[in-house]
Amino acid sequence: MFGEKILDYWDDIMKDLGDIVAIPSVAQPQDGPYPFGKDAATAVDKAIEIAERYGIKTKNSDYYAMHAELGEGEENAVVMAHLDVVPAGEGWDSDPYTMVIRDGKAFGRGVSDNKGPAIVALHCLRALKEAGVVGKRKLRVVLGSAEEIGMQDMGHYFSKEQMPTMGFTPDACYGV
Ligand SMILES: [Zn+2]
Repeated sequence: MFGEKILDYWDDIMKDLGDIVAIPSVAQPQDGPYPFGKDAATAVDKAIEIAERYGIKTKNSDYYAMHAELGEGEENAVVMAHLDVVPAGEGWDSDPYTMVIRDGKAFGRGVSDNKGPAIVALHCLRALKEAGVVGKRKLRVVLGSAEEIGMQDMGHYFSKEQMPTMGFTPDACYGV
C-alpha cells in the first residue's frame, strides 16, 4: 500500500523527532525578533533545517510559524500543526527533553502534542517528493509556535499567507 511507504523513513523520523523534542520550546513573551521567545524560534529554525535537508522548500513567517511546501497549483492543501509545547511539569521518569523509547513508545515533551505529527507531516512531503507524486495543488505543512498560548501564531501567518483550500490538523491523539 502506498501509504506504508512512510515507514521507510522511520529511522529518520525518530532521529528528527528526538532532535526537536530536545528544544524546550515553551512559547514565551516576545524576545527581540522572536515573537514567542528564543526556544520557540529555535524549534522553527530546526523544522526549516529538517525540511530543507530533504529538499523541501520552506518559508519562515517571522518566527510566528513556518511552512514547508511541495508542488504547484492555485489551491493549497494544508496540514497545520505546532512546535511549541506546554511546560514539562513534574512526575517524569526521565528527562522530558531527552526522547527515549520504552516498550515501543516514545517518551518526551511534545512527542504526541504536537512534534511527532509535525515531523511525520514533513516526512510525508519528503515521501511524496521522492516517490515523484505530482498533484494539482500546493501541499503545505504549516507549523506554528504558539498554539498552546492562544494561537496568535496562526493569526499572523494567515494574515500574510494563502488560506487553505482544504486541510486538517493532526493534533495530539490524532497522530497516535
Ligand atoms: Zn496541540
